[in-house]
Amino acid sequence: MKLKLLNTLILVTLLISCRKDNPYKNLKTEFVIIVVIDGPRYSETWGEINHTYIPYQSSLYNQGVLFANFQNTGITSTTPGHTAIVTGVNQAIDNTGQELPANPSIFQVWRKEKAGAASGAWLICSKDKLAVLANSTDPSWSNQYMPLTNCGLGGLGLGTGYRDDSTTFVEVLNILNQDHPNLALVNFREPDYSAHQGNWQAYLNGITQTDNYVSQLWSFIQNDPIYKGKTTLLITNDHGRHSNGIANGYLGHGDDCHGCRHISLFALGPDFKGNRTISKSYEQVDIASTVAYMLRFKLPKSKGVIMRELFE
Ligand SMILES: [Zn+2]
Ligand SMILES: [Zn+2]
Repeated sequence: MKLKLLNTLILVTLLISCRKDNPYKNLKTEFVIIVVIDGPRYSETWGEINHTYIPYQSSLYNQGVLFANFQNTGITSTTPGHTAIVTGVNQAIDNTGQELPANPSIFQVWRKEKAGAASGAWLICSKDKLAVLANSTDPSWSNQYMPLTNCGLGGLGLGTGYRDDSTTFVEVLNILNQDHPNLALVNFREPDYSAHQGNWQAYLNGITQTDNYVSQLWSFIQNDPIYKGKTTLLITNDHGRHSNGIANGYLGHGDDCHGCRHISLFALGPDFKGNRTISKSYEQVDIASTVAYMLRFKLPKSKGVIMRELFE
């Protein structure tokens, strides 16, 4: 009798530990694409009551999950924001492309842990300086397991200058079509680019133009036989912009005002029930941890958490 009880106990313990060891078994995601729309304020995106400037994402709301209290908690500039997203660590990294991230990115760790080919991880950016995201100063990771990059003019990377988002979008479709990477990050330079020039109308147009690219990208994914039903698309920002009345308002960013910190995350994919808004506060580093979870690898240096509500 005692032995039977002991056997039952062992069996129950085994069953519980199996479930713990395999938390991924129900995930359908095999591919993750992150789109970073550079520098809109929440007040002109999801925070605008009629979603006037993001009609395309707004029409996808019933399929997606919106994080309404998503934050940049580090330095509210482009390279630091992107670095937090891909490494899971807020780092006071140089914003001009003169410094590499101190920690390995999701691209490098994915390639190492999953024995992924270089063409399985892509960095496709309008801003040339973001090519730094491919590498790390960590001696264990420096020049190893790097993703392929197509950043800046001609896709040639550091020092070539910014290119138009329309060019980046063509590159995105070509690369996804050809390589079907498991993990890709896309950076669009608008609306940040026009806002810095003080052109309010072009800033709003930049929000809507990038919104349109996101919608076309989601359509591409839904119509692609490899990506369909297996791909998560995360749409977020590197930083916001100053709230009205702070410094030069929407023209600038970089401090800790509400407008600079408050950004958005909208998630579409086969593992989420749509038509939901999550009000719990999350931050950029949580994207790195959540992407690692969805692609079934560990990211030990990340300070982020897995955004469990996504999967409920
Ligand atoms: Zn930026
Ligand atoms: Zn600010």
